[in-house]
Amino acid sequence: MRRIGVLTSGGDAPGMNAAIRAVVRAGIYNNIQVMGIARGYAGLINGEIKEMDLASVGDIIHRGGTILKTARCEEFKTDAGREKALNVLEVFGIDGLVVIGGDGSFMGAQKLSHAGIKTIGIPGTIDNDLSYTDYTIGFDTAVNTVLDAVSKIRDTSTSHERISIIEVMGRHCGDIALYAGLAGGAESVLVPEEEFDIDDICKKLIQGKARRKLHHIIMLAEGTGDALELKKEIFNKTGIEARVTVLGYIQRGGSPTAFDRILASRMGARAVELLMEEKSGRVIGIKKNELIDMDIDEALSANREFHKEMYELTKILSI
Ligand code: ADP
Repeated sequence: MRRIGVLTSGGDAPGMNAAIRAVVRAGIYNNIQVMGIARGYAGLINGEIKEMDLASVGDIIHRGGTILKTARCEEFKTDAGREKALNVLEVFGIDGLVVIGGDGSFMGAQKLSHAGIKTIGIPGTIDNDLSYTDYTIGFDTAVNTVLDAVSKIRDTSTSHERISIIEVMGRHCGDIALYAGLAGGAESVLVPEEEFDIDDICKKLIQGKARRKLHHIIMLAEGTGDALELKKEIFNKTGIEARVTVLGYIQRGGSPTAFDRILASRMGARAVELLMEEKSGRVIGIKKNELIDMDIDEALSANREFHKEMYELTKILSI
């Protein structure tokens, strides 16, 4: 392996820069030339490629976003689009590729691997929705961003004795709501993985009001339902007015936490090692604090295990 490429694809996540840095530095350490590919698969098709030296990744470990930029690319999903990408890789003499992204990006990586390019995936997404790994890069930072917002909302919520509904990201995976809900002491955590009973929530609210509880936080993952609808339903059933905060894109930004920087650094370096071992079509994960690597197809078809024990704990601790 003499020359490898690195790209970030799909939704961005804090810690992607730390992962790029690790790939570049570990590559150069091992006498491998590292080419940075801009704008994900779109930049690959268009040949937006340049060599990365040690200095090119200086001063980025603490920055959110991705210096390589990211994109979604419909063309890459077609045979013709991928054919172009393969030609570009050949012209640039790139024989190994590190793809940092989510499950969509991994599907693209798998196709390149089947076409003969040695490809390794690193999980970069705030959603933590990849079942084969305990954590994805960016998730911990997103949870901390939400937690910071919860603390601020809690202050004003307490002053006004108000109910707060906080909507966070997570269309299919409620991990951000679950982790931030537990850490932030939310009274109710609503996630797409678990049915919820509106009457249970209303009962809690009424009981809370009766014992002059000063605040009540409902943490809602976006895939569970609409926050404004929930507010309306609560008002119709209890006459209690809730405030809605939709956190949105702030969850995708910010300086990565120590956890995400360390995870990204370890995974980036491991990706280079795997390429040096001529491995391909594999993704890196972390289980019980040990790095693992797994076949992409196997990783993508693994059943997601929802953290039921933690979910039940949010209920026990919010009685
Ligand atoms: P994420 O990687 O964050 O899940 P997307 O699902 O948007 O984000 O995927 C990112 C990109 O990966 C897509 O824009 C496309 O270029 C590529 N991709 C997604 N699915 C496939 C697929 N089935 N085959 C080939 N490429 C794909």
